[in-house]
Amino acid sequence: MRKLFILLSILLLFLTCCRQKEVKNIQIPTKELSRIESIENKLKKAYPDFILGIKDNQLIWTDSTTMIFDDKILTKSHDSLLNFPDIEDQFFYEYPSDPNYMDILSLNYDPGRIRNDAFLKKMYGNTEEEVKENLVEIIWLPNSDSSKLLVTKINGIHNKLEQISQELDTLPDELKKFVIKPAGTFKWRVISGTNRLSAHSFGIAIDINVEYSNYWKWDIDSKKEFKYKNKIPLQIVNIFEKHGFIWGGKWYHYDTMHFEYRPELID
Ligand SMILES: [Zn+2]
Repeated sequence: MRKLFILLSILLLFLTCCRQKEVKNIQIPTKELSRIESIENKLKKAYPDFILGIKDNQLIWTDSTTMIFDDKILTKSHDSLLNFPDIEDQFFYEYPSDPNYMDILSLNYDPGRIRNDAFLKKMYGNTEEEVKENLVEIIWLPNSDSSKLLVTKINGIHNKLEQISQELDTLPDELKKFVIKPAGTFKWRVISGTNRLSAHSFGIAIDINVEYSNYWKWDIDSKKEFKYKNKIPLQIVNIFEKHGFIWGGKWYHYDTMHFEYRPELID
């Protein structure tokens, strides 16, 4: 009788262990799947001309080519995220739509600063010459500035920036001063002090008036520290975000003159 009881207990313990393992095995892929699905939906919605979907860890493009979605490296430092990001890593930091974005601006929180070069080159051009083939000129704030800016027509970005320009052009002068005299759009270049291509290389970014801007590198003190600063009003930011442009002022490494077209990051 006692032997039977011990045997039964062992059997019960064995079954419980198996069950727990089974439940664990089901839970992990389900959780991962919903994250992948959510990213897939964002990419398809943002870039309907280019992205078909994600299958078997491959991002599938409309021309049937594929790219590895997730390199499966589980922990990356902030530097590795910047220098060796896969497609999935671009979503590592969630871009805050909240006006209280400062609350989540913790160390290295840089949503949108993680860019996969291959992903952007595939859409906008592999070389300076290829990018230039798709650049068109727009007139910035025709009633108050009239600078000529070069932006890409891929993904209709030139039209979106023109709509932004029209809305900004109707603002009162005390707001318009932040966006007149823009510092530039297209420039094939690496980000200063790095080997990474800037978003400006693809004709998808604009820097507004430098006079009212703050940049983390300008504020580094003798202790190599810097403290967040910004003068750009959120009314300006909202107009850009509405048309798919994220703002560099929502980065720990702030660059408040900088806006770039990354609609996949904006809810
Ligand atoms: Zn910029």
